[in-house]
Order: sequence, then structure tokens, then C-alpha cells
Amino acid sequence: MTPGEIQAIAAYLNMSEDEVRLKHTMADPQDSSRRVLRNERDACTFLDGNLCLIYDARPGPCRRFPHVHPGEHSLGARMESACRHSSVCPILYNALEEYKHQSGYHDLGRAAAAGAGG
Ligand code: SF4
Repeated sequence: MTPGEIQAIAAYLNMSEDEVRLKHTMADPQDSSRRVLRNERDACTFLDGNLCLIYDARPGPCRRFPHVHPGEHSLGARMESACRHSSVCPILYNALEEYKHQSGYHDLGRAAAAGAGG
């Protein structure tokens, strides 16, 4: 999370930036100099059922999810992790299914099956 994202959440929740940092973020496991949203019970600290409690102030990565834009952090550049996470993320699962539909993946499977049988 950027300092600006923490500031935006603090303003949205009417909390201090330090409170947001302490209550809702933790050190990034891959880079302890950075902060990420705290994970509680296998979910984001701001997830309430199917709702985001800070939707209007959610950080950039949440806004860009599931990262279907082209480029370095795109879905295509992270296909391995996308496939792994699709088992727990319905948005990602549905996005991958839609790509398969749009790319004709299912038609190729049917054509191969028809060719093998006849
Ligand atoms: S969009 Fe999801 S991951 Fe992002 S802050 Fe909201 S609940 Fe958390």
C-alpha cells in the first residue's frame, strides 16, 4: 500500500493514518519495508461478507483486480498465480472461464473429442 492509499482509507474511516496502519495493515511478507492489508480469517480485514467496507477508498490493486490490463502486472504475466488463486477467488475463476469461452477453448476441446471419436 502506498502512503496515499493509507491516507485515503484513514480519511474515509475518519481514523488516523497510524490507526489504519496498526489495525488494518501488516508488513509485506515479501518486503518488510512495505505494508499490505491485514489478512484475517483468510480474508482481507475490510471484507464483510461479500462487501468491501472501504469500497470507495479501496487501494489501487483492488481497483485493478483481476488485473486484465496488458503489461507487467497483468493477468497474462501472472497466469501461474492466477490459476492457483482461481480456486479461492470467484472473480478470478469467472474471468478465466470467460477467457476460455472467448478464445474458443471449449470449442477446441469439443472438436478434438469429435475427431478422436470419428
Ligand atoms: S476490495 Fe477486497 S481486498 Fe480490497 S480492500 Fe476491499 S475487501 Fe479488501
